[in-house]
Amino acid sequence: MQDFDCENAESGNMENSVKKLDMLVVGAGFSGIYQLYKAREAGLSVRVLEAGDGVGGTWFWNRYPGARCDVESLDYSYSFCRELEEEWQWSERYAPQAEILKYMEHVVDRFALKDGIQLNARVSRAVFNDDRLLWTVSTESGEVFECTYLVMATGGLSIPQRPQLKGLDDFKGRWYHSAQWPKDGVDFTGQRVALIGTGSSGVQMVPIIAEQAAKLTVFQRTANFSVPAHNVPFTEKALAAAKARYPDRRAMGREAITGQFLNANTKTAAEMTEEEQRAELEYRWKGAGGGFRMLRTFADQMSNLETNKMVADFARNRIRSVVKDSAKADLLCPKDDLPFGGKRLCVDSRYYETFNLEHVDIVDAAAHPVIEATAHGLRTDQCEYKVDAIVFATGFDAMSGALKAIDIRGSCGKSLREKWEHGPTSYLGLSIAGFPNMFVVAGPGSPSVLSNMVHSIETHVDWIMRLLTQARATGVQRIEATQAAEDGWVQRCEDEANKTLYPRANSWYMGANIAGKPRVFMAFVSGVPLYRRIIEDVASNNYQGFEMA
Ligand code: NAP
Repeated sequence: MQDFDCENAESGNMENSVKKLDMLVVGAGFSGIYQLYKAREAGLSVRVLEAGDGVGGTWFWNRYPGARCDVESLDYSYSFCRELEEEWQWSERYAPQAEILKYMEHVVDRFALKDGIQLNARVSRAVFNDDRLLWTVSTESGEVFECTYLVMATGGLSIPQRPQLKGLDDFKGRWYHSAQWPKDGVDFTGQRVALIGTGSSGVQMVPIIAEQAAKLTVFQRTANFSVPAHNVPFTEKALAAAKARYPDRRAMGREAITGQFLNANTKTAAEMTEEEQRAELEYRWKGAGGGFRMLRTFADQMSNLETNKMVADFARNRIRSVVKDSAKADLLCPKDDLPFGGKRLCVDSRYYETFNLEHVDIVDAAAHPVIEATAHGLRTDQCEYKVDAIVFATGFDAMSGALKAIDIRGSCGKSLREKWEHGPTSYLGLSIAGFPNMFVVAGPGSPSVLSNMVHSIETHVDWIMRLLTQARATGVQRIEATQAAEDGWVQRCEDEANKTLYPRANSWYMGANIAGKPRVFMAFVSGVPLYRRIIEDVASNNYQGFEMA
């Protein structure tokens, strides 16, 4: 099958005609770009439909001040091409958003992928035809495609949680959401700014907005743990040294629980002396460690409450040692009922230090919720805060949101929205019973958001392509996870999660950040290496759990 005529399509000549492809990919982030590359390599006709007017996914939309990756860029980057690794020069340990976006644009150019990506094309509906074994996919603008394989590369954090705030339309200032930031940036110089939300986005924004704003008031509903990034610019020498060891680094990453090497301690806290425990905590908090290394301080940290509390207490002490005003420090210290790492850990640069500035304040939005926006600011149940701008860093309808945003109808018209009414289910986090020939990259039920996403994405895309290559070689036209396999996997994910402390936290991993969303732990918690072995075993056992016809 040939790729359709892109020029005609874009000029509107083919507006009402159906474009036929082997594979359609939804989303041009890290997943979609790599899926396009691999599908072309395998000789498939393939097209990526992207809602934005540029590639990059998360890194296209999240342009808020201070946005940067909190997985080290040497790890949070494609590993499929050694030359790409060699030629790209990361400027910092944790690259800022603009640099990651530039990297992704470079990948698209370098591998000549641009003509396979259609921008400004938001997919609204996808319907499977059981007789013709094809997906019919429609965009909001009315274009229609038919494809044999549908790959949802829609991302786990791509549907922003829009603020449901009474009176927002009457607010006379400007308001922004972290994930829909204006391309030209925002200058807060001299303004009074309110920021709602203290997850990773809010924590990254606070120090930068504070540099400009005349007054910054942070509305915090739940204090989460944040650890110092110890971000540094790369010297030429340091980058060259790191690159000389790149293959080892990648190999160690593959065998690490999150798909990035964090020098995990293999001992439980009980196997160490107090002095050793202290040294381990210090090492991870300080420059040699930093960032997510804090999640790997003790082997039993996410399964043993006592061990977890040791790490949590250490972090709380650090917050108190930085924040001089004890009332602010009290508020910023996460409460005892939140395990360290139970909500996704934030990684910051000068977050807590910023609260020592006189013009930066924090409001307890749990005790005094924001009730409404007024013409001139925000009102809590206590008082009105007059501001010129409101920033919402209120997160996303995570994991399942992007898939449910599209009206997906599988075999016999089955609706994904209905199927997922009580929470997302899948087989291996990449296939859904009742939705043949459709694959989800890093979907619910895979390590995805608990891992180095780029590693997980490459793992999934490689696996999908191996499956499709075999299917095409053997004349298989319909690939579908069985309901029994999906049920078994859902149960396994739940069992694995229940062995940990994760379900104790009201996190977006659990769907707890969206009112009315079912509480289901949405990721495979037991790590990238085990997960990879499981899916490799499935493949070796003739794709056990799939019906192939
Ligand atoms: P988030 O972690 O879900 O945080 C949202 C924040 O908004 C929470 O503090 C939440 O409070 C608060 N909130 C939500 N609704 C509210 C309301 N009505 N009133 C008051 N507060 C409200 O969202 P995020 O910070 O955008 O981060 C989401 C994820 O994106 C991260 O966990 C991470 O996976 C990813 N991310 C990654 C990076 C990176 O560096 N790689 C950077 C940014 C984000 P509660 O906790 O009480 O719900």
